[in-house]
Amino acid sequence: MALVNDLLAEIDSRDPVQKLLLVSQDVLGVYRIIGLFPPMRTEVHLFWAVIALVSGWLGTSVEGLTVVVLAHELAHGYTHIGADIDRVTWDTDAFINAEKGLIEGLAQHYTHLVCQALEFRFPEALAAYQALLPRQPPPYQTQKQWEKVHSKEMIRLALLTTRRRMQTTLAEFMKNLNQAEQDLT
Ligand SMILES: [Zn+2]
Repeated sequence: MALVNDLLAEIDSRDPVQKLLLVSQDVLGVYRIIGLFPPMRTEVHLFWAVIALVSGWLGTSVEGLTVVVLAHELAHGYTHIGADIDRVTWDTDAFINAEKGLIEGLAQHYTHLVCQALEFRFPEALAAYQALLPRQPPPYQTQKQWEKVHSKEMIRLALLTTRRRMQTTLAEFMKNLNQAEQDLT
């Protein structure tokens, strides 16, 4: 118990959210793939007690942070099994083996778009996204650079290209993104 109290005191004394997210990145929620072969199943879990704790630390509403975490986990599902118009999805092996900065950056990008789309109806979501983002580890911030330079449609095209080619690295995605910029301008 003393150790737990010491740990909590230590966490509280620095930037608690940043510390917590460094320990485990699946601490707020998780997108799970169950079984590699059909009938493969996917699940989203939200960890409400941690969401409540972190929202208090961030000074955002519990509901706002819940929307951010839910949008992030659903965005993993969207990028993985959301079919394009040719019914092509992301090969599950390639998705699982993809670089963290690619998978998380894409989930973060679509989370950001959801929060922006909700801004007038539910501004707490964007506020929570913006409060959480600077405290998240680097793989959760790769999208910031893409969003600065590239349009949403360019990012979408690069996502489709990357997953059709079963590519797994951030470098390959960036190449596809630069190509998408040339193709769409
Ligand atoms: Zn994630």
